[in-house]
Amino acid sequence: MLRAAAAGLSFDEAGDVLRVDGATARKHVRTVIRLTGGSPPAASADDDALRAALAPALAAAAASPPARPRAIRCPEDSVAAELASARLDAALMLPHAEHAADCPACMARLVRFRRGGAPAAVSGHADAPPPERVDVVFWLGVAAGVAVALAYLFLR
Ligand SMILES: [Zn+2]
Repeated sequence: MLRAAAAGLSFDEAGDVLRVDGATARKHVRTVIRLTGGSPPAASADDDALRAALAPALAAAAASPPARPRAIRCPEDSVAAELASARLDAALMLPHAEHAADCPACMARLVRFRRGGAPAAVSGHADAPPPERVDVVFWLGVAAGVAVALAYLFLR
């Protein structure tokens, strides 16, 4: 959820991928903000305010290595596309969503599919380092999160 938001999905989109409604997705975001020492904005606040309050948690998450070993390999494009469009069975969705959370290449692919991009051929990508382009997209998201976090820290 956090990494999906950091990678550029809206809270609604991230919730859709994880099969939770928008209200539940935002409730999770508020919980994370509280657990990481922040204070969530008022319930009436818009997503921009929520995202700004989440920025420190996103920055901390981006700075820490994945906590879990990868349980599964990078899925085929067809499976990743099913995940992105929330059509994957729940039993398959959870491990693939967890994998994507820890795999920048798969997260970038998830965001791309979600944005309507056609599945690109990525044969052999499972053992190869992610393409440079994917890193750029991912780190741009991380950099934006860090910038917002710094603004949050120094302006409050
Ligand atoms: Zn992967």
